[in-house]
Amino acid sequence: MSDSQLLPDIAVEKAPTTVVVIGAGLSGLACAYALKKAGISVQVLEAGTQAGGWVQSFPVENHQYLLEGGPNSFPSSSHALVALADELGVPLISANKSANHRFIALGEALLEVPHSLWSAITTPLLPFSAKMRLLKEPFITPLPAEAPEETVAQFVERRLGVYAHTRMVQPFLTGVYAGNTNQLSAKAVFPNLVAYEQQYGSIIKGFIAEKRKKKSEKKGKRPYALLNCAGGMKTLIQKLEQALSGKIHLNTTVTELEQTASGWLVRLANGQKIPANGVIIATPAFVASQLVASISGEARALLNAVEYAPITLVYQAFKKRHLTQRKEGFGVLKSWEVPNPVNQAWLGSLWTSSIFPNRCPKDEWLVSHFFGGANHTDVLLWSEARAIEEATAQSAWLLGTAPKASPTLNAVFNHAKAIPQYTLGHANRMATAKAILANQSPTVQLAGNYLQGINLNHCVLSGQLAAENLLNSGVFQAVPPVELFPVPQQEPLVTQHAVV
Ligand SMILES: Cc1cc2nc3c(=O)[nH]c(=O)nc-3n(C[C@H](O)[C@H](O)[C@H](O)COP(=O)(O)OP(=O)(O)OC[C@H]3O[C@@H](n4cnc5c(N)ncnc54)[C@H](O)[C@@H]3O)c2cc1C
Repeated sequence: MSDSQLLPDIAVEKAPTTVVVIGAGLSGLACAYALKKAGISVQVLEAGTQAGGWVQSFPVENHQYLLEGGPNSFPSSSHALVALADELGVPLISANKSANHRFIALGEALLEVPHSLWSAITTPLLPFSAKMRLLKEPFITPLPAEAPEETVAQFVERRLGVYAHTRMVQPFLTGVYAGNTNQLSAKAVFPNLVAYEQQYGSIIKGFIAEKRKKKSEKKGKRPYALLNCAGGMKTLIQKLEQALSGKIHLNTTVTELEQTASGWLVRLANGQKIPANGVIIATPAFVASQLVASISGEARALLNAVEYAPITLVYQAFKKRHLTQRKEGFGVLKSWEVPNPVNQAWLGSLWTSSIFPNRCPKDEWLVSHFFGGANHTDVLLWSEARAIEEATAQSAWLLGTAPKASPTLNAVFNHAKAIPQYTLGHANRMATAKAILANQSPTVQLAGNYLQGINLNHCVLSGQLAAENLLNSGVFQAVPPVELFPVPQQEPLVTQHAVV
């Protein structure tokens, strides 16, 4: 797709039944693809120079290294995403077996996350008292449904104990949201667990009951694995681009929506106006906020309240012979319980070349360090040289790089508004914003990672749901009511997937 591809000069009076999708991240592309499959004429308008949003893969140094600028993997339990990839013919690759080993950094110590019943019993990650506390969970009286919303920290400590929070859930959410568990909402981040407490009186009882229900559905499904696309995550985007050939318009920033008698005029930064019968806003929340301003001041304010955490991602490669402490595995996440000896802004690291094959030359080791998050927005002020300096110190601590060993590759990605924070009240704020739009203008739908979960599977589901809601809004009389993708919209906890 050429950057300069112009929008077709659609005359307003022709008023074709067209949907404009604003934003060509995974949410927008999944939505546009669903609409196209339903026989709707769709145009995708993207402000950037490439489609994919955060999904970007970079082959560098003559394809010697493959770097992911955003998402690096997804679990095979990501049903909507895997189904989409299969349908598009995207070849998926599984992570190496060693990627099952994940670690938590507790100060100097790296402790392995248990991955079997025996390792859960024997793990030094949780003291004996904390393991006993976990077993008490089914006997803890649930809070009444009308009790005030809790933070993740409050919910987890009340049900599972302090250590389950500081050594398991908090590092996990540092990985997923780069967030602060004293600010993230339990209801928004773990809707299923909060519901289990209400429905079954206990998280553990809820897990067991739901697992039993799902047992029969498991037959014939792909066995659990951590996946990526052959050639990197971008392969999925390229296949979506092919499927939407000629429909994606890059360098096309939308600034405003204007309601007309027959639908919408989508105003671009260059002044052009595109007529549409329906609009999907698949941008980050702070842009969606501006775009709904002409519909509702309240929806604008609710969307504008979504905060984003920054991430500075630094890739470094080293000759294997220069490393003394190399560990095979997925990587390591930080527990905030004990300060990291090197850098307080460090969130965790992925042992990238240990996860998927062909990420760097065979005699090298590729690591990616994540810094920043909701607690350390100061990374926004780091220069590239500072980011490399901090990463080099982290590599020395984590991998035991020889004192004079310099990296064979440094690559820095600064993501200022990377991850939406599902803070207290988030679920209600988003439900209200969606209800206002559904009531006042059902032909404008929202999609994106700030709505129903931030992982890639949630993004696909969010795009598909927006398409479905739009088609059922009544404006597309010719199209019978549709249920495009009869997959569950709420994904269980296990499909929350780590950024880090
Ligand atoms: C560093 C990082 C690592 C991650 N790792 C993982 C992972 O390993 N696994 C996982 O499942 N998830 C991961 N995630 C989360 C996941 O990548 C994102 O949630 C997802 O890609 C978001 O997709 P989206 O389409 O909702 O939004 P975006 O990707 O933000 O797309 C929105 C699009 O809208 C466009 N846009 C904005 N304004 C306008 C405008 N005015 N007009 C037109 N277009 C506009 C933007 O340019 C962008 O292309 C990671 C995220 C980050 C940042």
